[in-house]
Amino acid sequence: MTFSELPLSSIANKQYDAVIIGGGMVGASLALGLGQQGKSVLLIEKGAPQPNWLSEPPLRVSAVNRYSETWLREINSWQEIDEASSCAFKRLATWEKGTPVVEFSADDINETHLGSLIRNEAIQIAAYKALEQSALKVDVVFGAVITAYSQKTDSKLLVTLTDGETETNVESHLLIGADGANSKVRQLSNIGTSGWDYQQQCFSITINTQFEQQDITWQEFQPSGPKAFLPLNNNYACLIWYDSKEKVGHLKSLSLDNLKEQVLTTFPELPGDFEIVKTASFPLTRRQANSYVKNRVVLVGDAAHTINPLAGQGVNLGFKDSAELIELLGDTDLSDINKLNQRLSVYQRNRKGDSLVMSTAMDGFYHLFSNDKGLLKSFRHLLLSAANALPSAKLKVMKKALGF
Ligand SMILES: Cc1cc2nc3c(=O)[nH]c(=O)nc-3n(C[C@H](O)[C@H](O)[C@H](O)COP(=O)(O)OP(=O)(O)OC[C@H]3O[C@@H](n4cnc5c(N)ncnc54)[C@H](O)[C@@H]3O)c2cc1C
Repeated sequence: MTFSELPLSSIANKQYDAVIIGGGMVGASLALGLGQQGKSVLLIEKGAPQPNWLSEPPLRVSAVNRYSETWLREINSWQEIDEASSCAFKRLATWEKGTPVVEFSADDINETHLGSLIRNEAIQIAAYKALEQSALKVDVVFGAVITAYSQKTDSKLLVTLTDGETETNVESHLLIGADGANSKVRQLSNIGTSGWDYQQQCFSITINTQFEQQDITWQEFQPSGPKAFLPLNNNYACLIWYDSKEKVGHLKSLSLDNLKEQVLTTFPELPGDFEIVKTASFPLTRRQANSYVKNRVVLVGDAAHTINPLAGQGVNLGFKDSAELIELLGDTDLSDINKLNQRLSVYQRNRKGDSLVMSTAMDGFYHLFSNDKGLLKSFRHLLLSAANALPSAKLKVMKKALGF
């Protein structure tokens, strides 16, 4: 799928309600949502969607929860997601090696599914497709980045952009950083971060399966780190191997045949044979921007927070940022400084609170399960047995997993 290219020069000196830097899953969806509110938006993405993205074997996939699905439906983006790139799952199971399985099922809460595993690129492309098919006041420029911004008037920022050859200025009430973990907008605004790198890394292994598509995603906790199975469409699935940096380095050096041997001895038994087609490793980082808002600058998605992907919540938090920002800006006159400041401070309070709770919960899981200490082991067993024995506890966990 190719999208029409708007040259940077064509938007010179234009005025916008919002300039969004970063057209990943979060930024592209936010542009769509703000556009549907009647806002004029400029979306700047340094890359460009490639025509072969969805014909290659999948590599980066996200577990998208039901809250995010509902929101993406509302902004008409969900409907555009390539079907072959999405796989709904009905069941979610977790256990510690050698202990009973705790299983959550959509049937228990009369739902059709608990969530969907979707290729990141498919979510991004869906938003671009919806944008292209609409007649919204949203300009999209690929292959450009922000270089600077300054306060032009009380209610306007001057944003400087470049495509590597020419520089262009535009004016905007808001500048939104949706440019990921190493956000340039965050740097330009001098917003600091706090956080750390986890000792574990994530090794993702895409497999071509010779067994039928599964409706379950599972995670086995092992002292060296969790091992997870993510079902995908088209005979693909993803195995996620969390382990030390050294171990992941070793796994990366293996031939695919030797890697398969390691998978067979380390992972729980899979329902059939498989072939490894692609691998990638990711460092795990926890980062929180010290502030999500500074004057007329707002951070969303990974620009504001990155969390341990243990429970697949990162992009779901990003969609919640976008949904809340859109709602708060709905009836706000963006040139009214007092009103805008008041709305943005609500955004910051709510979203920072939510993402801190989620990050802390992920850290709790990480520390609780990634070790072999006797006392913690007993506590883990107690926790998982309680989750199995108490239907109310199970329901609570399931509601969290759905994202509500
Ligand atoms: C191994 C792993 C597994 C994960 N699994 C899950 C999961 O199952 N579920 C889940 O919810 N989350 C998951 N996450 C987290 C999820 O991938 C991120 O939260 C999500 O990608 C954040 O989206 P984003 O749009 O905010 O940022 P990004 O995806 O980083 O997108 C940022 C965009 O901005 C563009 N950009 C960057 N700099 C500039 C610039 N200066 N100018 C213009 N454009 C720029 C980039 O090209 C990119 O397109 C996982 C993360 C990892 C590492």
